[in-house]
Amino acid sequence: MAETAATEKTGRCLCGAVVFKATPAPHDDGVHVDACHCGMCRRQIGGPLMAVTTAGPVTVEDPTHLGVYRSSDWAERCFCKKCGSNLFWRMRDGSFTSVNAGAFDDTSDAKLTLEIFIDEKPGYYDFAGERKRMTGDEVLAAFAGGGTASGESASGAGAGKA
Ligand SMILES: [Zn+2]
Ligand SMILES: [Zn+2]
Repeated sequence: MAETAATEKTGRCLCGAVVFKATPAPHDDGVHVDACHCGMCRRQIGGPLMAVTTAGPVTVEDPTHLGVYRSSDWAERCFCKKCGSNLFWRMRDGSFTSVNAGAFDDTSDAKLTLEIFIDEKPGYYDFAGERKRMTGDEVLAAFAGGGTASGESASGAGAGKA
């Protein structure tokens, strides 16, 4: 199956102190966005995390204001120390990075293709439309098998087996 060539995208935090380039994982129908309904994402950003898995690490122009919060033994969440924008989620070993979809400058070619930790979603919202939805347990299993879903607990399972 043919996949489109990876295309680098630019992005930045709200105040502009952190400017970055990242290449979304290539798909033949555009950029895929996944939504994580887990409790950790909800507490950190106030709602579901909408993120794009990248094809490699993110390049930050000037990391002076890039904050890194080690949220678990295996993962860290990156943000702007000046304005508080949440920007990246990544495995500490560099094997997986996702960029918060809202941080990209242009997401006109992006679509929501996956919802994860659907069993942790609070009752006060639902996303319209049909797409693949996975429970936390299903994400854990997929990640352990080399899947690409993001999520704190999912990655933890993967790292735990590595
Ligand atoms: Zn900022
Ligand atoms: Zn999450």
